[in-house]
Amino acid sequence: MVFEGVVISKVPYKERDLIVKLLLRSGFMASFYVYGGQGGGKHHKPTLFELGSMMKIMTKDKRIKSSESELMVVAEYQRTWEPQVIRHDIKAFYLSCLFFEIVQKFAVQYHSDHDESSEEHEGIFSVISNALFYLDEALLKKKFLPEQQLNLFMVKLLFHLGIMPDTDRCGYCGKDLLSEGGSTFLIAQGHFSCLSCVTAENERGLLLRIKKGYQTKYQDYETLTGATFQEADKLIQYFCHHFQLKTVDLRSYSLLFK
Ligand SMILES: [Zn+2]
Repeated sequence: MVFEGVVISKVPYKERDLIVKLLLRSGFMASFYVYGGQGGGKHHKPTLFELGSMMKIMTKDKRIKSSESELMVVAEYQRTWEPQVIRHDIKAFYLSCLFFEIVQKFAVQYHSDHDESSEEHEGIFSVISNALFYLDEALLKKKFLPEQQLNLFMVKLLFHLGIMPDTDRCGYCGKDLLSEGGSTFLIAQGHFSCLSCVTAENERGLLLRIKKGYQTKYQDYETLTGATFQEADKLIQYFCHHFQLKTVDLRSYSLLFK
């Protein structure tokens, strides 16, 4: 069978082999065993399985049982795209690792019974592939703002997961949030509230940025101005709350937010 997807995890195994996880175009996540995948050897072959690379893989009929699941064994592979500069910028690299970690928290494991033509999860693949492509582009153009990239990623992700908070109306009284003076984001309740219903910090900026992020095409990322880490953090907290995770479960989170 032929699979195409982005490398979101790789673990060296034995002396030269690799176990890699791909987020497939269909939005499912699949694990593969690659003999000699670490590269090296007599000819010092480099590995093609870098995090964030887009791979096309052909599998053998044979499978390997691992502790977690059954792994498909890779027969042939080809890299069809790779980020050029992400791994040379520590912030951008951690950011991409955070994307991969977040995806692994909810992506559904591929199974041969799955209908690969189903489009149910495809949005997730387009979010991650766009995020990587434009992160790399922003670095090349010297326009890289980690908080901007992270905000856009989180908004797009929440939308594709179908858990975008309502940014139009107060979750309590139903009043229009934009015509009210201010609003606040209640992470645990999963909605915004006007400041008449709840007395709290005014987070109108976050509200506007979510609306703007939702409307912004990935290629227009530069127009999402004023994003902050603090806002991105709220979106991550909200994501974690929804999936009953803690931010400490995301290792790259602490590397980025320290
Ligand atoms: Zn209200």
